[in-house]
Amino acid sequence: MKYLSTRGDTTPRGFSDILLEGLAPDGGLYLPTHYPQVDAATLARWRGLSYADLAFEILSLYIDDIPSADLKRLTHATYTEAVFGTPEITPLKPLGDGLCLQALSNGPTLAFKDMAMQLLGNLFEYELGRRGETLNILGATSGDTGSAAEYAMRGKQGVSVFMLSPHGRMSPFQQAQMFSLQDANIHNLAVEGVFDDCQDIVKAVSNDLEFKRRHKIGTVNSINWARLLAQVVYYFAGYFQATKTDAERVSFAVPSGNFGNICAGHVARSMGLPIHRLVLATNENDVLDEFFRTGRYRVRGSAETFETSSPSMDISKASNFERFVFDLLGRDAARTRELFAEGVVRHGGFTLDAAEAARCAGFGFVSGRSTHADRLATIAATWRASGVLVDTHTADGLKVAREHRDAGVPMIVLETALPAKFAATITEALGAQAPVPPRPAALAGLEDLPRRFSVLQVDVGAVKACIEAHAG
Ligand SMILES: *Cc1c(COP(=O)(O)O)cnc(C)c1O
Repeated sequence: MKYLSTRGDTTPRGFSDILLEGLAPDGGLYLPTHYPQVDAATLARWRGLSYADLAFEILSLYIDDIPSADLKRLTHATYTEAVFGTPEITPLKPLGDGLCLQALSNGPTLAFKDMAMQLLGNLFEYELGRRGETLNILGATSGDTGSAAEYAMRGKQGVSVFMLSPHGRMSPFQQAQMFSLQDANIHNLAVEGVFDDCQDIVKAVSNDLEFKRRHKIGTVNSINWARLLAQVVYYFAGYFQATKTDAERVSFAVPSGNFGNICAGHVARSMGLPIHRLVLATNENDVLDEFFRTGRYRVRGSAETFETSSPSMDISKASNFERFVFDLLGRDAARTRELFAEGVVRHGGFTLDAAEAARCAGFGFVSGRSTHADRLATIAATWRASGVLVDTHTADGLKVAREHRDAGVPMIVLETALPAKFAATITEALGAQAPVPPRPAALAGLEDLPRRFSVLQVDVGAVKACIEAHAG
């Protein structure tokens, strides 16, 4: 399998070439040259596999530059009951009436990003070891992504992590989770500023190409193809659990922000997995809902980007969206470049023409939005009807899922975080008698553990000095 760029660069690259990279050199995103097709016989064979073996089969279709035995070892080292809490790894929880949750949040940071990031940690260690190289991952986080990256990379050979966060502005749980890590290769840099200051520093350091090359600076952001590929696996795993035969179809509802999670669903569907609808749910930041309803993609400025109670979906611009649009346009790289390099950059967005909008309908997407009041109502109604507590992001997915039910088609709502991370909103939804959201035993007393972090001024020089002192 070779990879190309959505903006037209067709230099053939293998999986290992793009694994450690971000954007393609022409500014596009990497995609495989084609989506391998999965026929009925293959689906029937995969139905009985363990999660780790299923991951191995799917990854093998996209990775031909890692020996099979090594890839199998990596998927088996990643998807274990010890890390993800159950032998099924992503079990379904029925809510009645053909509706269920797929648990993707039982990894170390209690959010679905662990599903991909844990694999990425093992792939990075493997590839860097094979090349005899090291990598220093630099990132900025307001919560989920940074902690998932740190828990994936902790203790890994050849990798160090420098994670900037706004000092005192993450939730107490998130701070405890990140700062309690004692691994020598993890560096928490608490910046005396806001998240945008952190992001600006990361950009400034990355734009110093000489520094970047000398210290082998890399990233683990959501446009990484390996992360997306890892997420394709749980769509198959969810499908097999919800159906008895491969003649059946299911729909998936996906709480969405950067369009990474649901893009993996689009890839699974493009491979031939019988997915009826991909239901995209946004919160008040409804860039993507607007697109699927109107064909107009209008990115938002910071004044129009709201801080909500499902914070991991607070995006103004969806970084993975270009991948889907490229497929929607019949893989026309010139038109993709026109829409993103011209339309988004110069005019803040674009509108599909009539033929393109008509073609969009063939990809199975429907969408909706959910507000703070919807979130509270969904959390309360789900608790009263089924005794199941859902987090705020999953509540957005569930609310929109209910608006797009089709008779006889099971609906799987992806659970993207555990309610334990958002205890305050659970209390707001359920009142004084609210149950305390359960926490995995391993995280008992998390807030009392010793913490390891440095406080820095908003100063590019100070961050560079820290990297210089500790780079692997
Ligand atoms: C990241 C995240 C999302 C959004 O996923 P995308 O891949 O960015 O669409 C939703 N819910 C939670 C809890 C997340 O951490």
